[in-house]
Amino acid sequence: MPLSKLEIDNLLRLVSLTEDSEITCEQCLALLAEFAQQKLNGKSIDEGLKTVEQHLEVCSECREEYEALQRTLYQIDDDD
Ligand SMILES: [Zn+2]
Repeated sequence: MPLSKLEIDNLLRLVSLTEDSEITCEQCLALLAEFAQQKLNGKSIDEGLKTVEQHLEVCSECREEYEALQRTLYQIDDDD
């Protein structure tokens, strides 16, 4: 008998729980602007944003998003 959607959801939740302090792409993207800004300013990264850094190391989609954002921020910075 194939797994029901609910069973699959539960399995996925268990898998995600084992990966300590990992965030989803959605959470990553929500924090990305703040993260990029702190990086740009050379500030130390907030504890809460370290998960973003970790996520960017493993997720190429979000990394592309981050790089695009970084380029935009640097361009704004150059205008001064
Ligand atoms: Zn991602």
